[in-house]
Amino acid sequence: MLSFIKAKFLNNILPGFITGIVLQFNWAKSILLEKGLINCFVQHWGRIILSGIIGILLFLLIDFLLRRIYLPSKNKKRLDNYYSFLDSFNILILYFFFKPADLVLIILILFVPIFYLLKNKLVYILAKKEIKNLYWCYLCILLFLYYKEILLIIVSGNTQNYLYYFSLLTSPLTFIIIPVLYPRITKIYLIILGILFYITSFITNSHILLYKADMPPSTYYAIWETTFTESTDFIKDYASLSILLPNLILLLLFVSIIVLKIRKPYFNLNIRDRILAVVIIIVLHFLFNSFYYNIPVKFVDSYLKFRAELNKYRKEFQLRKNSPLGKQARIQCSSLDTSQIFVLIIGESASKYHQGLYGYHRNTNPLLSTIKNELFVFDSVISPHSHTNPVLAKVLTFANFEDMDALYHKRSLIEYMKDAGYKTFWLSNQQFANEHSTIASMIGIQADVTVFTNINNIDSVGSKPIYDGVLLEHYQKALNDKTPKKFIVLHLMGSHSDKAKRYPDQFKKFTDTIDIPYREFNRPWVYEIINIHDNSVLYTDFVLYQTIQMLKVKNENSIWLYFSDHGEEIFDYRDFWGHSEANSSIYMFDIPFILWLSDKFKNLHKEKATNILTYTHRKYQTDDVIHSIIDLAGCLSDDFIPNKSIFNDQFKYEKRYIYGHDYDSLVIINKKKSIID
Ligand SMILES: [Zn+2]
Repeated sequence: MLSFIKAKFLNNILPGFITGIVLQFNWAKSILLEKGLINCFVQHWGRIILSGIIGILLFLLIDFLLRRIYLPSKNKKRLDNYYSFLDSFNILILYFFFKPADLVLIILILFVPIFYLLKNKLVYILAKKEIKNLYWCYLCILLFLYYKEILLIIVSGNTQNYLYYFSLLTSPLTFIIIPVLYPRITKIYLIILGILFYITSFITNSHILLYKADMPPSTYYAIWETTFTESTDFIKDYASLSILLPNLILLLLFVSIIVLKIRKPYFNLNIRDRILAVVIIIVLHFLFNSFYYNIPVKFVDSYLKFRAELNKYRKEFQLRKNSPLGKQARIQCSSLDTSQIFVLIIGESASKYHQGLYGYHRNTNPLLSTIKNELFVFDSVISPHSHTNPVLAKVLTFANFEDMDALYHKRSLIEYMKDAGYKTFWLSNQQFANEHSTIASMIGIQADVTVFTNINNIDSVGSKPIYDGVLLEHYQKALNDKTPKKFIVLHLMGSHSDKAKRYPDQFKKFTDTIDIPYREFNRPWVYEIINIHDNSVLYTDFVLYQTIQMLKVKNENSIWLYFSDHGEEIFDYRDFWGHSEANSSIYMFDIPFILWLSDKFKNLHKEKATNILTYTHRKYQTDDVIHSIIDLAGCLSDDFIPNKSIFNDQFKYEKRYIYGHDYDSLVIINKKKSIID
């Protein structure tokens, strides 16, 4: 009786039901794509269930007719074949692995007879007892993939399109080829592969737990771009039980599969079956195209892309070195500026919301505040990204959101200023691994004078930190240089990552907790991060003030411009600190943007200087800042677009995007503070 029901279920009920619901889901394919499997079912469950029941009845009717026609003839084999054909309709379940479309349904229906012919062979292979190791191998990889997804759903509350979760089921298939071909090495293979998966999962899961969002491509980039130092800083900054525990659970699950489940006997297929299995896996690999979802693959892929981009950039530089920039637009500098010192200071992770000058309740800018009336404090400037390198690729070149190609075809800021007749200086306290390690260092070394004070891993754990103040002596040398026109860039370490290492002891001024506003997530660690961040801002205030004072002593026609590469969120309104695009908030993009002009400049350019006073509320994004810089310098060319200069009377507001979201409608219309609120 039981076997009769089981046979009925497998031959009629299941394939009938699957066929019925798949036809119905195909009808609802637009809802399926937009709202996912569950919502689609919730919305149309009556119709779907009914269709499934009709499918079952139809298959039972066929069964009934078959018995009527074939049972009398006692042709058992023929009847079995027909049943086997009926249950081949189970393959229609694959519909959910593809983007729903009529074509998919048609192809799958056409595939039913092929599956029917291959099925016996497949079932024979798959039912072997020794094949259990392979299943566990597959499940082990699947564990890493779904563990990450479950963490993400728990912490963020967001789910992906259903298709993505189905695709994950097929992602590990490609990794099974090795144990299919060489069963004996299954265990050692899975250990090596598992370690790879574990390390990459550890990073991804930690990111998810920390930022409550999946790792965006920019973060994979950032990981490859940051040096070893920063990774250790990162771990030091964030290591906590709530992050380590979920990773530990994953480790235990992984180890127990290897220890308890992968064991002899290893399966033993003949060579023909092995090849058949490999061929099927390869076909599935290309059919489902989900190999990329494997976590280590994402890392390798992002690394290759990262290398490719850097190499492309390096090649362009090489090309340009070999052929002079004859084709570039001619630069015409204002005849008023026979001599000029242009100082550009690029800060690091400086939050606008933690600057006294911008209204922060702590006076983190005590020195700049004393010369407040000499400063143009722009209050509505944002960065294009929340990570240094993508920002600087746009800040230091003509590349912007509309035209990334300018990165390769137009001069960098340094090359431009050189062509405009300036002697250029690049003074950086940022980590420097080699000239090709970041876009900033590649552009930096184009300068006539280059100083990197923070070479290799000097900034590593336990070593003596190098404060931004070391740049001042090099800055003084640059100021003393006899060339009439000088363009001096200072690239600060600012408030980067391990903020406690960014300032000397005498700047350890903010240690209290009483003046930090009450929030329910306040705890000692939160107070500490806020305090060390504010101390680092205090120190940057000192460095910035010194650079202005030293410039004043020169009494020259001078321009001084400071802005941070991007901002930083420091427990400003939620239990979070740092910067990550997937979790973008206004705190990571709103940056301090401050201009100082010498009296000589103001006298030479009276109208310009007075006008700028009225420009300080302009809504601007620094992907276009190169236009503002050359505008101020008064060195224009066909590359210059006046609309894109915050200092120009022809300036036009452009839509500003953070991680694909319209910043201004997010903040002004929707009053949001982050894209995921
Ligand atoms: Zn940065």
